[in-house]
Amino acid sequence: MKKATTIRKLITLSLCLMMCLSVFAPASVFAKCSHKNTKLVVLKEVTCTRNGKCVKVCIKCGKNLKTCSVKKLGHTYKHIYIKPTCNNRGWEGTMCKRCGYSVAEKSYPALGHNYKTTVYKGTCNTPGVTVKVCKRCGDKKSYSTGKALGHKWGKWQLVSINGGKARYSRTCSRCHKTKYKNN
Ligand SMILES: [Zn+2]
Ligand SMILES: [Zn+2]
Ligand SMILES: [Zn+2]
Ligand SMILES: [Zn+2]
Repeated sequence: MKKATTIRKLITLSLCLMMCLSVFAPASVFAKCSHKNTKLVVLKEVTCTRNGKCVKVCIKCGKNLKTCSVKKLGHTYKHIYIKPTCNNRGWEGTMCKRCGYSVAEKSYPALGHNYKTTVYKGTCNTPGVTVKVCKRCGDKKSYSTGKALGHKWGKWQLVSINGGKARYSRTCSRCHKTKYKNN
């Protein structure tokens, strides 16, 4: 019985010694990481045409445990139809939903503008203007045509006589502007 007590005492002592040591020694000497909690870190994003690369990392100690690769995804095609416009050609074919890689199967030429032309007559002071507006896209062009018409004056007419001075006027038959002069 006495021997057993001594052994128990010895064990207790050595346990105490180990605990004391573990307090003072760096944790890594005793605590070996079991890499229980891991996360995947992406090194290279997977795309339609390129394999991805990742690595399994221990969250606790940061050790890279295993590299892994993700097989390239390949294109996922959908049918697409782009209408031709006045300026741009249209096309029909397939396009990858993910990366936009496209293969045209049919092409449609640009339509060109479809202008409606309106001519505004010139006035006494301003030249005529031709305005062209595309019925399809609204593209607008305008340019002046010719010169301002100038006034179309009537004859000088006597308006009044005041203190021996005569006052005359004349009027433009187009815009009805009236001009006066004393004589
Ligand atoms: Zn670890
Ligand atoms: Zn793709
Ligand atoms: Zn147009
Ligand atoms: Zn006029």
